[in-house]
Amino acid sequence: MLEDSKQIVVVGAGIAGLTTALCLNHFGINACVYERSNEVTTAGAGIQLSPNANRVFSHIGLFDEISALSRRCKGVRIFDYKSNSQLALFDYMKFKRDAAFLFCHRADLVSILYAACKKLKIPVHFDKKLEKIKNGEVIFSDGNVYSADIIVGADGLHSNVRKAVIDEEKPIFTRQIAWRSIVPNSINQDDFSHVTLAPKRHLVSYPINDGSQLNLVLIKEQNEWQPDGWKHPEDPKVVKENFKDFSDEASKIIASIESVYKWGLFRYPMKKKWYNDRVILVGDAAHPTLPFLAQGAAMAIEDSFVIASKISKFPKLSFAFNEFQRERFPRVQRIISASAKNARTFHLSNVISRLVLHFFLRLLTKFLPHLLVKRFDWIYDHNVTN
Ligand SMILES: Cc1cc2nc3c(=O)[nH]c(=O)nc-3n(C[C@H](O)[C@H](O)[C@H](O)COP(=O)(O)OP(=O)(O)OC[C@H]3O[C@@H](n4cnc5c(N)ncnc54)[C@H](O)[C@@H]3O)c2cc1C
Repeated sequence: MLEDSKQIVVVGAGIAGLTTALCLNHFGINACVYERSNEVTTAGAGIQLSPNANRVFSHIGLFDEISALSRRCKGVRIFDYKSNSQLALFDYMKFKRDAAFLFCHRADLVSILYAACKKLKIPVHFDKKLEKIKNGEVIFSDGNVYSADIIVGADGLHSNVRKAVIDEEKPIFTRQIAWRSIVPNSINQDDFSHVTLAPKRHLVSYPINDGSQLNLVLIKEQNEWQPDGWKHPEDPKVVKENFKDFSDEASKIIASIESVYKWGLFRYPMKKKWYNDRVILVGDAAHPTLPFLAQGAAMAIEDSFVIASKISKFPKLSFAFNEFQRERFPRVQRIISASAKNARTFHLSNVISRLVLHFFLRLLTKFLPHLLVKRFDWIYDHNVTN
């Protein structure tokens, strides 16, 4: 068990930072969180929370609250963009009834995590942008310097903490750009995630809040470089033009887009080491993940529990950090490569390959529907709290 006098600084009050502070508290360990913004902020967008992430929230007593503000996801339907016919059905209500898949609004999730920190008197300091780490001291852009025994870098994709741990390599543009939007649920979409496949593009939609709105993510392959980050406004006309050959319900919801944000998808080479003597990276700071399996936040949430449990279990930091990485690395690596594979399958453009894919998806849905769902058991059945 860690000595009480140890100072733990968590940088970033996003999903990873707040969950890490809560998990540390669960193990009886105090930490302070420092966030660059002046409040807890998050993109106005939905998030899919899979059972592997929700097990962490159950374990720390927050699942009921999160679930109350979320929609229960009943499964995934895959469609073809042209015929709008259903190619596959992943039926969670039938084959994964006891597992909690949720559609949540990011703002709700982060607000619940922050309120839980407040209730537990976990200090969360705002307007604290970490500039750098030097000799075990965290240096903020307002000139404040604090010493820390453990620094958890939960500062996301463009992590500053990461610079203290590893030499940065340039991220690689994946030649894919994405748009996100929230539109009225004018098609009365059910509580399934709909994934509509097209050559070099796909659309994901799912209901959020009271079901009257749909969260949309639209992804397209293109060579043109787009800025990294995901808060760049886009003219809705651009999206509508790029997805104008989609039919029926998909075309209806695309037509209703009034405001939309874009971002370029970058691949960050997987770092071999996520820590040094007193700094450890979690979530996107350690291993940014492309969104084709909706597992980036889920990995951040799993990381948060595992790092807290290792710190609580092993007094020697180097051992705790090493154990954390030893446990997390293979899983995260597998998720990242499965996500990249999904991108290729979703965007097949060769007619024959597409027909073969459609044939197999239909066949499996008709005769072996449980196998479709079972293929992802390694992701969703995982329980880091065991
Ligand atoms: C389109 C899209 C859809 C997605 N959908 C899903 C999904 O459905 N399910 C899922 O599991 N994942 C999803 N993800 C991935 C998920 O959003 C991220 O993996 C997750 O938000 C990472 O959390 P984080 O806390 O590590 O980083 P972030 O959420 O980026 O949080 C980092 C925090 O650190 C703060 N910060 C940054 N720099 C500093 C600094 N220097 N000093 C102090 N504070 C700082 C930031 O302000 C922020 O609050 C999606 C991603 C995208 C792009």
